[in-house]
Amino acid sequence: ALQERIHGTVLEINLNALRRNFTFYKQLLEPKTKVMVMVKAFAYGGGATEIAHHLEQLKADYLAVAYTDEGVALRMDKIKLPIMVLNPAPESFPNLIRHKLEPVVYSPSFFKQLGEYCQSNQSHLSIHLDLDTGMHRLGFGEENLKDLVDLIQDYPELHIASCYTHLAGADEAIHEEFTKKQIELFSSMCDAIQNSLDYSPIRHALNSAGIVRYPQHQFDMVRLGIGLYGVEVNGMHGSALQPVSTLKTTVSQIKALKKGQTVGYSRKGSMKRDGKIATIAIGYADGYDRRFSNGNGQVLINGKKAPVIGNVCMDMTMVDITDMEVREGDEVIIYGEGLSIIEQAKSIGTIAYELLTNISGRVKRVYY
Ligand code: PLP
Repeated sequence: ALQERIHGTVLEINLNALRRNFTFYKQLLEPKTKVMVMVKAFAYGGGATEIAHHLEQLKADYLAVAYTDEGVALRMDKIKLPIMVLNPAPESFPNLIRHKLEPVVYSPSFFKQLGEYCQSNQSHLSIHLDLDTGMHRLGFGEENLKDLVDLIQDYPELHIASCYTHLAGADEAIHEEFTKKQIELFSSMCDAIQNSLDYSPIRHALNSAGIVRYPQHQFDMVRLGIGLYGVEVNGMHGSALQPVSTLKTTVSQIKALKKGQTVGYSRKGSMKRDGKIATIAIGYADGYDRRFSNGNGQVLINGKKAPVIGNVCMDMTMVDITDMEVREGDEVIIYGEGLSIIEQAKSIGTIAYELLTNISGRVKRVYY
């Protein structure tokens, strides 16, 4: 696919890098520890179906998506792995059952609603209990434990496949004390739940950063996200990870401009000296953030960095290539292999997660 270069913007997905990153995390884990991979948000932009197929080959144990329809799409594409759904809407209960998807249940009222639904439809579901130990997003708090244990007895239609918590600060050493408390609370909540059952739900707490920082708390499973896609968290991985997604485009046109001439909408860019610019075939409609305007973003052309000049347009962006060797049609790396997505994200005050998941649907995904 790489030989027949596609004009315009593409997201290249390196499945070999994905495999290597997966192996890197597997080596940090006990052989018995299961790996759930987060393929929500289109597998962090990379394409959920293709990546899920690859993960089946790699023998991942579980997948997770945010919404039921993401899970349904995977089932339509013949993905057989168990799939956890983080935030299933009540309207999607029939689809959970039909497609054997496993919802997260995060409150007593939601437990009851799902339990009633299953009872009246004489159906069973495997569910996952989200335990809030300090993230304060979704989840049962300690104060809900008694209700929860009662509900588990009331609705045997719901099989507790797992209990999990999410760490609020696994990425930074300053939160170690807090994280320790989260883990302790998680363990005690799991014990209380398990005491009311005659089986043992899977326990899991660690995300990518957590796997590296707290391998002693891997429990029965981990939930791998950003690291699998090759984005390291806070310098914790050294150079062990390889970027999976590389966003690329091409140079459409080159123009020579004089000092003082302006570039693009609102005439926001202006030439500091006589020079030249390249117009590249990517804009905010592709997910190239408009905050990259006016020198906040850089792209890589023929191994050299060129700053954005002027405002990012919907489908195009101009970059200053004065003193660079560039020809029309040349390849431009926006971020990924060769140009750090973390650095680019930082320069506009965001994180790589946001840049990856914002790459729009019209950008062609190419797998190799
Ligand atoms: N677990 C849950 C509940 C999440 O919401 C996420 C991602 O947002 C992850 C795990 C994976 O996190 P990361 O991508 O940092 O590995």
